[in-house]
Amino acid sequence: MNTSPILIAGPCSAETEEQVMSTATALARQGITIFRAGIWKPRTRPGCFEGVGIKGFPWLQRVQHELGMEVIVEVGTPHHVEAALKAGVDRVWIGARTSSNPFAVQAVAEALRGTDIPVLVKNPINPDLELWMGAIERFKRQGITRLTAVLRGFSCYEKTIYRNPPLWDIALELRRRLPELPFLCDPSHICGRRDLIPDVCQQALNLGFDGLMIESHCAPDEAWSDAAQQLTPKALAEILASLNIA
Ligand code: PEP
Ligand code: MN
Repeated sequence: MNTSPILIAGPCSAETEEQVMSTATALARQGITIFRAGIWKPRTRPGCFEGVGIKGFPWLQRVQHELGMEVIVEVGTPHHVEAALKAGVDRVWIGARTSSNPFAVQAVAEALRGTDIPVLVKNPINPDLELWMGAIERFKRQGITRLTAVLRGFSCYEKTIYRNPPLWDIALELRRRLPELPFLCDPSHICGRRDLIPDVCQQALNLGFDGLMIESHCAPDEAWSDAAQQLTPKALAEILASLNIA
């Protein structure tokens, strides 16, 4: 395990310029250097908040220029890729619902061809190791070399304490097959509630994950998406300080 884990934090969604700036400022003060925020949100049901879209990019550019942070957004279509590259984002992530769809992954991978932007590939929503491998291979085949895998847990029908049980064995098998790939854990989407997050972070580090991607919001209870799982920057810093980094 790397002694200083890679840390990515920020809100589920960019909501307003004030929310982005106040969250990012607080996270920067806690030493976070990579800021996440969804601009387009792949919601399970229509009618939920589906992201602010491109009007959020100037806010993320302020985060880059005024706070010196890198920014990362989710892309799910070639149109998203084009807009995100034009806006100068530093990295992109592929969400779980996109990783489950080879047509979508192929289209996004082709849109990224010729760039060397780092791409984080979340596991597909269903527990299918081959589908996750396939998504990573589609990016490799388009010449994308800076790839990272992210475990965000898997959907299941039974009720469990987790929103998306981690099924660590699947991630460890992917790691065994692709040992050169950096591997992050997203405890926020695994847990679905903030009280479970510290334990899952520690388990991930104990299992040798290279870092964490965690949702953080300046006013989590008022968040427009994933309110129950977001942490204030202060709570996040307390959790990070409590972790035993082997
Ligand atoms: C997110 O990171 O906010 C998100 C939508 O994640 P996932 O694709 O893991 O559900
Ligand atoms: Mn989210």
